[in-house]
Amino acid sequence: MQRLSHLDEMAEIIALGGAHFETRIRCEVDCLGQRLPVYSVAMGNADPAVPAVGFFGGFHGLERIGAEVVMAFLHHLAVRLRWDSTLHRMLESVRLVFMPLVNPGGTWRGTRANPNGVDLMRNAPVDSAERVPRLIGGQRLSPRLPWYRGPLGGAMEAENQAVCQVVASECLARPFSLTVDCHSGFGVRDRIWFPYAHTRQPIEHIAEVHAFRDLLRETLCHSPYLFEPQSSQYLAHGDLWDHLYLGSLARPGQVFLPLTLEMGSWAWVKKNPRQLFSKLGLFNPLIDHRQQRVLRRHLPLLEFCVWAACSHAHWLPVGAERERQRERALARWYPELGPGERP
Ligand SMILES: [Zn+2]
Repeated sequence: MQRLSHLDEMAEIIALGGAHFETRIRCEVDCLGQRLPVYSVAMGNADPAVPAVGFFGGFHGLERIGAEVVMAFLHHLAVRLRWDSTLHRMLESVRLVFMPLVNPGGTWRGTRANPNGVDLMRNAPVDSAERVPRLIGGQRLSPRLPWYRGPLGGAMEAENQAVCQVVASECLARPFSLTVDCHSGFGVRDRIWFPYAHTRQPIEHIAEVHAFRDLLRETLCHSPYLFEPQSSQYLAHGDLWDHLYLGSLARPGQVFLPLTLEMGSWAWVKKNPRQLFSKLGLFNPLIDHRQQRVLRRHLPLLEFCVWAACSHAHWLPVGAERERQRERALARWYPELGPGERP
């Protein structure tokens, strides 16, 4: 029987984490005659008073490097939990949750979509009222075309419902949480995107996002990331993080920051143009040493997210500082909005 190597790797990491990991199968997906599990792994303090960080990958089956980056971090923690008492102490003040392989069917088949042909990042019940690019912004013409949203009025796909469950139970019921969802395939630079994808309007917590950006730049001095709203690149229907963020606004006083790491794959193609002729090559570093470097490159960011969540009370802006951060954010990311159009 053919095996999906990423699921084998997950099983090894879960065995390595042992009793330190709270592992659950959130749903199973039918693919090529097999049932593939969608795992979540949680660790740390379950008390809803402490902050949480969620790490997600593998929404798009072709973008294997996203799942691999999240699995590399989970592996790193599994090993450290065996000897590092400082990590155990840190986990008393934070909850961590991982879903490295949200779309195992797509990963196995080598498709962006899940086995139903649905693009999980176009599948949430969020419609853009603005001009969305044809096809790439999400379409309901056919599951045979890319960026298919799923049938009108249909329930969300099982994989997305599993993510919503995990975010609701592990992240949203807390004073502060953030998530990092790892993708690849857009541009040369590594980017960090924040919502919205469905509108060019700024989110409610734009001051908090800007303060996080400052903190990241000051702490990881040479960090390679271009920080921007997803809407500055293109608008889309059905973005799952928009949907979850909008839902989080029903809980005033709580801060939920969903971030997307978009690894710039075009640089790998430029260094190895033969990748242009391979479907996986457009989205992943195919040469071993380059893949190792990509995995190493992003671990500091993922660790930084944990530290930032633990100490959110020391950097989240309040009062006049919040207003100052908001003004800087609007000037940097939304210069086209006049004072009258600002929320
Ligand atoms: Zn993607």
